Order: sequence, then structure tokens, then C-alpha cells
Amino acid sequence: MKDLTYLRNVVTLALTPDKCKGCGTCLVVCPRAVFAMPNGKAEIANRDACIECGACVKNCSFGAITVKVGVGCAAAVINSFLGRKGSCCCTLPEDDPSCGPGCC
Ligand code: SF4
Ligand code: SF4
Repeated sequence: MKDLTYLRNVVTLALTPDKCKGCGTCLVVCPRAVFAMPNGKAEIANRDACIECGACVKNCSFGAITVKVGVGCAAAVINSFLGRKGSCCCTLPEDDPSCGPGCC
């Protein structure tokens, strides 16, 4: 389960290294082992494993992490089904994946 990867390049997860204090909480709460901390600060080590549950955002006291909870894979599948391509956010990888403001 830990190594399961969903759709590629659709996850909205973002990390701001300057805000990270290296507390390690995100490594503890993430159910998918997305983060690593090789040099005292968190890094996104396995982005495509993220299921956008939001646990990391909720538990980071320093605002270093953002994610659109629950929209990534679901939005990509729905947008692909509706025939939407790169002009709308979160399309399937073969449809030129992209995420931008004003989508979803
Ligand atoms: S929870 Fe936030 S501050 Fe703590 S290691 Fe993760 S990103 Fe850095
Ligand atoms: S949203 Fe959930 S799965 Fe994704 S990195 Fe954060 S805790 Fe891990």
C-alpha cells in the first residue's frame, strides 16, 4: 500500500522550504510516506503517492505545506471523462496535465 502510486503529475501538494522548521510532523502524519527529511527540512520525496488527504497541511504549524484536499485524482478522472484537456486543471497525464488558478 505504501508504494502504491495513483495518477502521475496531478497532485496539488506544495511545500515551501523557507517556512519549514524541520519538526518532522508531516513525516509522522502522512499515511503515504510522501515526505523525507534528509537535511533537517522536509522534502517531497514521493509526490505521486499523495492522496491529498490534507493531514500534513492540518498538522504543519508553520504553514509550509499546501494541498487542495481531495481534488487531485478525482478531478483528473472526471475532467478526462468530460473530455477536458490542458485548459482545465487536473487532466490525465496523457492529456497534458496542468493545474492553474480558477480551476476545480
Ligand atoms: S510539519 Fe511543516 S515545519 Fe514540520 S517538517 Fe513538515 S513541513 Fe516542516
Ligand atoms: S495530503 Fe495526505 S497523503 Fe498527501 S502528503 Fe499530505 S498527509 Fe501525505
